Amino acid sequence: MKKILIGTHNKGKFKEIAYLLPKKLKKISPILLNIKSPKETGKSFTSNARLKARYFSKFVDYPVISDDSGLCVKALRDKPGIYSARLAKKNGGFLNAMKIILKKMKKEKNRAATFVCCLSFKDKKKIVSVEGRLKGTISFKILGKKGFGYDPIFIPLNKKITFGQMSKSKKIKMDHRFIAFKKLRKKIKI
Ligand code: IMP
Repeated sequence: MKKILIGTHNKGKFKEIAYLLPKKLKKISPILLNIKSPKETGKSFTSNARLKARYFSKFVDYPVISDDSGLCVKALRDKPGIYSARLAKKNGGFLNAMKIILKKMKKEKNRAATFVCCLSFKDKKKIVSVEGRLKGTISFKILGKKGFGYDPIFIPLNKKITFGQMSKSKKIKMDHRFIAFKKLRKKIKI
């Protein structure tokens, strides 16, 4: 069975990427191989996704797919953006990070936000990167217990519920990762 390393330690992301990939591939986690995550020193989603793909490729002789993603809130000048994971880490978890965002947005009328995902695929011959974006709004409350990360405060465009309230199977077929993956499949055969 052919293998692919999904270069993330985030269990929510791992599950989503594994779901998008063909069934015939054996999906390997860096946790299983005892590989630590690299420092995310890039200044954009693309540079971080590429940095991760290159880093994880050093440990295996089969393809790697990695992602860098985050929530860009318009009223917060697109923050937390590439610092989405770090905002949670610094403040003791995603519940606190969501509370911080909601507090900052308390009197804000412009609730526009975008979930961004850059996927990078690397094998021996090439590295290919694509970006998926999903527009939506920030809710006024933390709603729902499904999903992961900032899902409970993000309402996708034309929907009335947050990703945290949405079934996993629905979210997975419409989110920023799904959009990026569709673009990736147009560029390469996985
Ligand atoms: P990084 O790509 O490892 O820097 O982490 C990105 C962070 O963005 C994750 O830890 C999540 O907090 C957040 N994020 C990315 N995609 C999603 C998603 O689909 N739902 C909720 N949060 C997400």
